[in-house]
Amino acid sequence: MANILLAGGAGYIGSHTAVELINSGYDVVVVDNYYNSCPESIRRVEKITGKKVKLYEVDVKEKDKLDKVFKENKIDAVIHFAGLKAVGESVQKPELYYRNNIDTTLTLLECMKENNVKKIIFSSSATVYGEENKVPYTEKMKKGTCTNPYGWTKFMMEQILEDTAKANPDMGVVLLRYFNPIGAHESGLIGEDPQGIPNNLMPYVAQVAVGRRDHLTIFGNDYPTPDGTCRRDYIHVVDLAKGHVKAIEYSLKNNGVEVFNLGTGTPYSVTEIVETFQRVNNITIKYEYGPRRAGDLPESYANAEKALKVLGWKTEKTLDDMCRDLWNWQKNNPNGFRD
Ligand code: NAD
Ligand code: UDP
Repeated sequence: MANILLAGGAGYIGSHTAVELINSGYDVVVVDNYYNSCPESIRRVEKITGKKVKLYEVDVKEKDKLDKVFKENKIDAVIHFAGLKAVGESVQKPELYYRNNIDTTLTLLECMKENNVKKIIFSSSATVYGEENKVPYTEKMKKGTCTNPYGWTKFMMEQILEDTAKANPDMGVVLLRYFNPIGAHESGLIGEDPQGIPNNLMPYVAQVAVGRRDHLTIFGNDYPTPDGTCRRDYIHVVDLAKGHVKAIEYSLKNNGVEVFNLGTGTPYSVTEIVETFQRVNNITIKYEYGPRRAGDLPESYANAEKALKVLGWKTEKTLDDMCRDLWNWQKNNPNGFRD
């Protein structure tokens, strides 16, 4: 079976993808600098799968060190998760975001070229649809105007990958536009472990539930949506991880560039999410409505038909599963991987 390099593989989506790849018979090599993760996540992946994972502490921007990883392992394809992803921080520190996200991509592409590796799957985001496009988003839409530097790095990295594939017709590039990944592996051994105050909704809800935060503020209830709160396409991280296995299968057989939305196609509002979390887990979440957060769109959700048609992939888990599995992870690991 093929050997897959996971750049940024110790993180939230990378660790879940490692489990699904290993369970499908692939070998994985993980490279991470632990900027937003720790090696414990990969120890847990080994516990879940019963397999050893080759793990390197390397900054993907450091070409000599990354090249050594390519030389020591016969890599068949790369999945590029290694990036900074906090929207608010990207507004405060744009140069950090452009440097890290663009450099990791260029360095990976250079090492791939020099080591004759032709396949790459990239973690893109629904944020590239920007402000102009109307929901549900389809892959055929022109990319829009991003509302922050994080989004622009995704926009630019997609362009870099497309141009590289154009210049190298024997390459295969798959751009995966994730919607809102939440939840955790059902074992409760791996999950999302944000450092500091969570920026995203579900880690915040989980930390209120476990007593680390007093209450949730829902950002705005005057949007043009059915209940006035924003609607998003939340996808279980295990479904998302399985989408990567399908993307790898596809990319090992096909060249050129393909773009896929990875979402469920069904939007839920913030209030619906909080109510579902409370009902499924029989727990009370203290919350209040506050002002809108700058840059938030009222609605973002996928048309998920292309991934079904071309990859044979669709989501299987429900919102109840997402809320139950998130709580199972959080209550067993109240302080994340530091427990
Ligand atoms: P994460 O922060 O948990 O994982 C990213 C990993 O990359 C971390 O382990 C981090 O330490 C590592 N990393 C960052 N810079 C690195 C570098 N220079 N060298 C080596 N490792 C480095 O985030 P995640 O949620 O797992 O996201 C994975 C990818 O998916 C990111 O590119 C992110 O932008 C993208 N994405 C995430 C979401 C989301 O909501 N989680 C949505 C859309 C896209
Ligand atoms: N949100 C909220 N309170 C929070 C965090 C998020 O009301 O503490 C809302 C946010 O306004 C958005 C939704 O939850 O409508 C999802 O936000 P998140 O940051 O998780 O993902 P985004 O869709 O912005 O990438």
